[in-house]
Amino acid sequence: MPLILGVKVDTITREQAIIRVERLLKDGGQHILTTPNPEFIVAAQNDAEFRNILNRASLALPDGFGLMLAAKFLRLPFKERIAGSDFVWDIARLAVAGGYSVYLLGAGEGVAAAAAAKLKIKNVKLKIVGAESGVLLTPSPLPAPYRTCSGAGMGEGGGEGVIKRIRDVAPDILLVAFGHPKQEKWIASHLAELPSVKIAMGVGGALDFIAGRVRRAPRLLRALGLEWLWRLFLQPWRIVRIYRAVVLFPALIARSYLTKR
Ligand code: UDP
Repeated sequence: MPLILGVKVDTITREQAIIRVERLLKDGGQHILTTPNPEFIVAAQNDAEFRNILNRASLALPDGFGLMLAAKFLRLPFKERIAGSDFVWDIARLAVAGGYSVYLLGAGEGVAAAAAAKLKIKNVKLKIVGAESGVLLTPSPLPAPYRTCSGAGMGEGGGEGVIKRIRDVAPDILLVAFGHPKQEKWIASHLAELPSVKIAMGVGGALDFIAGRVRRAPRLLRALGLEWLWRLFLQPWRIVRIYRAVVLFPALIARSYLTKR
């Protein structure tokens, strides 16, 4: 299992990842899927709890252009980058094919429901049994037929209610969009209370992308590894996070390379 700065990242193609998820859904266990990118890896350096969760993942999808560059530099056999937000679509297809139900948890008010509606347009038979926001906001009318409510995730007192709501509809797949490392920590501490869940994955901003609330960088910028520039332009308040990914991460990689030589 390759480690980048002590964090597990699977060297796997998107096709292989899909096959692995198919197997995980059938093996009777409960699995955490992660999407380590440079920001995750920097965060994990000083957060042992986060690092342990990442290293316990059944599948760690290599996300982020910077990760691919680092792998090249460290001569690790990485095959392809798998963006978490693209992989959500693969999970939706797998869910339809296997008859698995999905619960979307997280993001701002109405985003999970809007993402559910978008996923259903391309996957008409997808069973989305819950779609609820992850921040404490006042309830507002959301598109039927999704069961929705606000104030689930991270707010005080929201924890108990959300566990019950998820247990009541017993989803097979749980996608959590609280941002890292909150989403991974939330999943790790609550998965055992949600026995129906076979696969739980932190999806960060994926619901915002799918719902069309945040535009992904154009393909060309992504191919050039300049997605960070796009995010800086759209979400300038992320500058510290972008600094961690674009400056700190390469510096840590270079340091680890030089100290190992
Ligand atoms: N979010 C949430 N509850 C929180 C904090 C964040 O639902 O307490 C949502 C936020 O609205 C956004 C997502 O989590 O939809 C975080 O996306 P981001 O792109 O920051 O994810 P990351 O890059 O950290 O994985």
